[in-house]
Amino acid sequence: MEFIDLKAQYAALKDEIDLSIRGVIESTHFILGEEEQKFEEKLAEYVGVKHVIGCSNGTDALQLIYMANQIGEGDAVFCPDMTFVASIEPACMLGATPIFCDIDSKTYNIDPESLERQIKAVIKEGKLRARAVVAVDFIGNPADYEAVEKIARQYDLLVIEDAAQGIGASSNGIKCGAFGDIAATSFFPSKPLGCYGDGGAVFTNDDEMDKLLRSLRVHGKGKSKYDNQRIGMNARLDTIQAAIMLPKLKVLDKEIEIRQQIAERYNKAFAGKFQIPYVKDNMISAYAQYALLAADMEQREHIMSKLAEQKIPSLVYYPVPMHKMKVFEGCFMGDETFENTIAYADRTFSLPFSAYLEEKDQERVIETVLDVVRN
Ligand SMILES: *Cc1c(COP(=O)(O)O)cnc(C)c1O
Repeated sequence: MEFIDLKAQYAALKDEIDLSIRGVIESTHFILGEEEQKFEEKLAEYVGVKHVIGCSNGTDALQLIYMANQIGEGDAVFCPDMTFVASIEPACMLGATPIFCDIDSKTYNIDPESLERQIKAVIKEGKLRARAVVAVDFIGNPADYEAVEKIARQYDLLVIEDAAQGIGASSNGIKCGAFGDIAATSFFPSKPLGCYGDGGAVFTNDDEMDKLLRSLRVHGKGKSKYDNQRIGMNARLDTIQAAIMLPKLKVLDKEIEIRQQIAERYNKAFAGKFQIPYVKDNMISAYAQYALLAADMEQREHIMSKLAEQKIPSLVYYPVPMHKMKVFEGCFMGDETFENTIAYADRTFSLPFSAYLEEKDQERVIETVLDVVRN
């Protein structure tokens, strides 16, 4: 059994994907070719934003956002304590200071109350300028943008959506990638919309920001490639990767629907025995991961070893809160104790999950996990 069945997805879409890749090879337009532009247009339409800027990966997409907004030395960037390091790493590289916030104990997304406490603590300390918040659609569940944006407006913060795990998800009918002032995503193969290597994108409704990002994406170019106006990056999305995702984008909503059905099945089986995913009524999760919380770390290890015995893969997203990472040693803590992040990191485990997970395999996962709590 695969943790995320990319092989089955390829088998289902093989003819279209192969044809699409061959088209690029035959055209030899490998860099920003027609398929790359077409993919940007189709994804903009899908998410419901004006501009999509294809990028080399999700980390670079976030770096382009931080660069375009001149975030750096002296700036505080607020970030959930439970995420992948790339949400904040590029801001740190530009000289900004990460300020971590606890997560909500049910949604596992940034806790707006902790965010506001941390903003106040930074202002009170008076050393940094409260500049931006990066909210993450953690494991596919949309963050609470209503609450985050309300606080951000009050303190004049830029809101960045890290939708790396959220493509296909929505809140009040608005797709992830369309929240905040600007958003980024990743097309790492295991993400809800993945390519066959590295890829990412930035989403914006602002025409000037779109122009600036396109310049930064290609060495800060002006009118031509050799008219360099600012320090930029080489951060383009490969045409072949875009071509691979064109057929995948067409079936994304269908896959998201199947993911809801499998999640419901898992939820029904695990409710009352574990803490199951909590998705607000007005939201649809992309279920980038299907995560349960065990009673404690010991029970989690026990379940994961029983699954491994049955050759069923399971993984932990993520075992270490940001504030406990070596790289962030001595980081600003305010008065936060991060109890929700710590509890989550100690207890979470993710089960095999994708739109291509067969019913008999779903059953086998359920039975193996329930067997442990029965005994
Ligand atoms: C995957 C991921 C990224 C980084 O994307 P890459 O394409 O791997 O660079 C950033 N943030 C989150 C939350 C992610 O899951």
